Amino acid sequence: MNLSAYVIGGWVRDMHLNRPCKDIDVVAIGTEDTERKIGIELAQAVAKKLGNKFHVNLYKNFGTAQIVYEDYDIEFVGARKESYRSESRNPIVENGTLEDDQNRRDFTINALAISLNSKTYGELLDPFDGLKDMEAKIIRTPLNPDITYSDDPLRMMRAIRFATQLNYTIEGNSLESISKNKDRIKIISKERITDEMNKIILSKTPSIGFKLLFDTGLLHFIFPEMVALQGVEIRNGKGHKDNFYHTLEVLDNICKTTDDLWLRWAAILHDIAKPPTKRFEPEHGWTFHGHEDKGSRMVPKIFENLKLPLNEKMKYVQKLVLLHLRPIVLAKTDITDSAVRRLLFEAGDDIDDLMKLCEADITSKNEYKVQKYMKNFELVRQKLKEVEEKDNIRNWQPPISGEDIMKTFSIPAGKEVGIIKLAIREAILDGIIKNDINEATEFMIAEGAKLGLKVIPKL
Ligand code: ATP
Ligand code: MG
Repeated sequence: MNLSAYVIGGWVRDMHLNRPCKDIDVVAIGTEDTERKIGIELAQAVAKKLGNKFHVNLYKNFGTAQIVYEDYDIEFVGARKESYRSESRNPIVENGTLEDDQNRRDFTINALAISLNSKTYGELLDPFDGLKDMEAKIIRTPLNPDITYSDDPLRMMRAIRFATQLNYTIEGNSLESISKNKDRIKIISKERITDEMNKIILSKTPSIGFKLLFDTGLLHFIFPEMVALQGVEIRNGKGHKDNFYHTLEVLDNICKTTDDLWLRWAAILHDIAKPPTKRFEPEHGWTFHGHEDKGSRMVPKIFENLKLPLNEKMKYVQKLVLLHLRPIVLAKTDITDSAVRRLLFEAGDDIDDLMKLCEADITSKNEYKVQKYMKNFELVRQKLKEVEEKDNIRNWQPPISGEDIMKTFSIPAGKEVGIIKLAIREAILDGIIKNDINEATEFMIAEGAKLGLKVIPKL
């Protein structure tokens, strides 16, 4: 075809890092004619060679094409030369040489290419010493970082994301340049920013990324509620802990026990309402009364701002934030069955996640205290198990429905039905009656009588 081709970018990087990677980017070079879409031409030729068994997806507007081959996703694109304008991260694109294409890459470790051409097959092209940076564990831009970050400010998020995922250091000039260009992040869509933030959250030690986001000032633009957690105030010689660094410890802790993005989000947000609920009470010192409740109510707005889904995942995070102090309260008192039943009823299937969150929330530096708290939680877990086995409260529905109440007393839907239903539920949760239909029926009749209702026999 009179073209040359290279594998480039993420796949080559990940091969050298022994990270599994199923996305392969192939760049084609060979023409200055911008009308020709050589990425698409090459993909079609490859598909033909493969016996046309594999479908080629064309993205004509971008001049790219994709073949899904077994579980690989292979993308073909013509080499690009890019020039940027200040108001958009979308560049003006021309066809270019391999060198042009490597110059437009964000980091030296992302600019590696491997030849697919017969004479040089397998040869590595590493114009910016990306391999050396990999060995030294450094994130560095191929060109002047001010240009790289200002051209496409998403790269600032990507730099911090790679530093977190790979546990690399961002090279000094680069880091300085991120601080300098931080407000350029405004031209990036929130979806893309959050996408990178979620990748940080899903890595092994997300605190690395959040500290970088905070230190560079990016976090102030993208997630101010979290920045507000930072700082210690001292009054009458009494201080409180720095809730930003505490939150990061909780987040790192929970990453050891879960890969679930939403449980990790619950850890990030568990104390989010500490700044707005903070009070200094001369007798008690610093208090954060109601921060769990207010925090839970702050979640929807935060999710909306970050373009996170406003669905059952959000409700789950709200629930964990709301309940995050409950097991601690349980652990501190003599644990009664009824308190355990209540918690099981309210947490339902999320009780195990809630316990993980509480255990992650222990960030004392005092090893003796940590051991003591962990032991208390062990007791709570045991008690939860006992009560659950006995009473089956998780996902529990009271044995008598509103419908049953209406039929028994022959009354329409209304206030009285609600009163009786609630009384039955509370009586069972408090252990006044057993969780069974006979005791509950008897109780219902007695409660009805209090409201002047009589049982109407079935005809
Ligand atoms: P991951 O797949 O883990 O998100 P990646 O580096 O492979 O990381 P992709 O979005 O798959 O990211 O991009 C593939 C390659 O395209 C990168 O390795 C890099 O060379 C280049 N690239 C991606 N995004 C940018 C960008 N914003 N600026 C410059 N080059 C980029
Ligand atoms: Mg990739």
